[in-house]
Amino acid sequence: MSELWCDAGKGYHPASAPDYLPVPQLRALQLRRLKSVTRRVYDQVALFRERMQARNITPDNIKSLEDIALLPFTQKTDLRDTYPFGLFASPMSDIVRLHASSGTTGKPIVVAYTKEDVEVWTSVMIRSFASCGLHQGDIIQNSYGYGLFTGGLGAHYGAEGLGATVVPVSGGNTQRQIMLMKDFGVTAICCTPSYFLHILDQCKELKVNIRDLPLKVGVFGAEPWTEEMRKRIQAESNVEAYDIFGLSEIIGPGVAIECPHHNGLHVFEDHFYPEIIDIETNQPCPDGQEGELVLTTLTKKAMPMIRYRTHDISRLRTDVCPCGRTIRRIERIARRSDDMLIIRGVNLFPSQIEAALLTVEGTLPHYQIVLSRDKGLDQVEVLVEVTPEFFSDRVGSLEALRHKLSHSIENTVGIRAQVRLVEPHTIQRSEGKAKRVIDRRNA
Ligand code: ADP
Ligand code: ZN
Repeated sequence: MSELWCDAGKGYHPASAPDYLPVPQLRALQLRRLKSVTRRVYDQVALFRERMQARNITPDNIKSLEDIALLPFTQKTDLRDTYPFGLFASPMSDIVRLHASSGTTGKPIVVAYTKEDVEVWTSVMIRSFASCGLHQGDIIQNSYGYGLFTGGLGAHYGAEGLGATVVPVSGGNTQRQIMLMKDFGVTAICCTPSYFLHILDQCKELKVNIRDLPLKVGVFGAEPWTEEMRKRIQAESNVEAYDIFGLSEIIGPGVAIECPHHNGLHVFEDHFYPEIIDIETNQPCPDGQEGELVLTTLTKKAMPMIRYRTHDISRLRTDVCPCGRTIRRIERIARRSDDMLIIRGVNLFPSQIEAALLTVEGTLPHYQIVLSRDKGLDQVEVLVEVTPEFFSDRVGSLEALRHKLSHSIENTVGIRAQVRLVEPHTIQRSEGKAKRVIDRRNA
């Protein structure tokens, strides 16, 4: 436990947090842990052992951190193929928690935690909240869904571990969320950025001025969002918006988070070792180059992941952050390699559409991309909500706005999209991850 640095419940001790370890010490710790996790999966998990044997490697081949490249990748399909418990490295008697990802298509994927894994998870969430400037005395409203989804309980344990007061409201019932925020004097909220936008809309409708509330920090993640979205959120509230990243396969939320400099997300790399690989060659990229984020859990007991391919596109930043943390940063994740839409031969990511839309005044940050096929040709329609003021006062300029938006999209992504302006509240709101794309091409 001492190596885990922080006991849930005993509060946060910033000075001793591994965020600030001298780099050589951090690398030595990572190597020690990499060796140990490699040994663990080799001994305990048939899939990893067989893959290593097929490559003629044993845990003894890991002599430096670079040797991680000798190890095989793990994919989401590996979790599906071994559903439910095939990748567990601990007996069920040591497992204290199971979670599962949404699994909207087919079987969900299952992840497991020992008591120690839950402690690690709590500690990285404590470090995450601390990175947003939160501490004991803060009142954190946790609007991530509680249940099989990792967001709710992950943030809950972290907030309690920090010594803050947690309001475990979970997602949904937005009016009640706003009432509690007001009545309890909530100072920070955790939810998806799209759900926070919905809360902002509802505040307006209920004539609650969000700026009158003590809410000052938003910990937003679980879905991609853009810098433009941050600007909108911050312009409409006094909330400082922090980007938090995580995935169930690695631990849940708390893999990486921004610090007050908002210049990338610090990865808790004493537990989660990051690599960026070239998607074409599968070879490690030099620092600073864009590619797919691959993560190895260095301390997980119940279900370690070796070189897990996240499909999230990012870069590793090694320049020194003014906050003094020595753990490296990843650039904010705006897209996934499997999110890429190919429209008439042009590669398009939903986040590019978001960025293009939000640079134009008069729109709300609610949009949906609808793909269809007409005479064999892909068609893109973008539905965008227009501010109530625009709808009521300036009807004449709707056409001009539509043109502006299509131009902005064409300039950003190089394709012509049909823009359809819709009234506020027309696009379905989500309490969790927003659904940005509706693909009717094969309907
Ligand atoms: P599910 O597979 O059910 O969506 P997760 O909640 O574990 O399960 O989803 C993890 C994925 O969510 C990540 O791989 C990433 O694509 C996305 N994600 C999480 N946090 C962020 C973030 N801050 N920015 C961009 N994408 C994110
Ligand atoms: Zn920093």
